[in-house]
Amino acid sequence: MHTLRGMTDVRRILVVEDERAIAEAVAARLRAEGFAVEVAADGPSGVAAARRIRPDLVVLDIMLPGFDGLEVCRRIQAERPVPVIMLTARDEETDLLVGLAVGADDYLTKPFSVRELAARVHALLRRMEKALAVNRAEPAPSIVIGDLEINPAERRVRLGGAEIHLTPTEFDLLVHLAHRPRTVLPRERLLAEVWGWADASGTRTVDSHIKALRRKLGADVIRTVHGVGYSLEVSR
Ligand code: CA
Repeated sequence: MHTLRGMTDVRRILVVEDERAIAEAVAARLRAEGFAVEVAADGPSGVAAARRIRPDLVVLDIMLPGFDGLEVCRRIQAERPVPVIMLTARDEETDLLVGLAVGADDYLTKPFSVRELAARVHALLRRMEKALAVNRAEPAPSIVIGDLEINPAERRVRLGGAEIHLTPTEFDLLVHLAHRPRTVLPRERLLAEVWGWADASGTRTVDSHIKALRRKLGADVIRTVHGVGYSLEVSR
């Protein structure tokens, strides 16, 4: 089938959004930019679609019928780490989600422009693909610190022998901290190096992902130096 030629190069995006006008506008814009887009309109079908199409990225609304975006995010990330951009209705909702450390890589508050969303999608995919390319070019050896074992080539983490599922951003952040254990890394520096952001407006994003890492790896693994940043403190 000649129409399938080159299809493996097309990145797949899953949009989970129950407001039809928004879902259609987002899907149209992303298709125009060359992505293959699938839309799901509720929580359960979002999880099912993620399983079926194995998307490269998920755009996920928070308020959904069935179960909400938090639960969708949890379920799809538990099965297969995938970058997630979450859509929220209000800024306060974003603050709440950042505080909950649900494992989204980026947030966008409604109303947003589809152009802005497309820009965020490209930025997040670029970041993930760059990390993978570096990985392929020079597979890094495993990092072992105490009970913690990080395998950058396979992007897997084990703690005391048990595999821990991390989102792509959580993994990149952990690797960054693990390269310099017991060294305090400023939030602005982590933001620049892990997220590629030049301005400091997203430092709460760093806090959110640190919170998620603590929840998964244990509270004492990462030390907070108030007003400065974070360091990895695994005992040997
Ligand atoms: Ca909604």
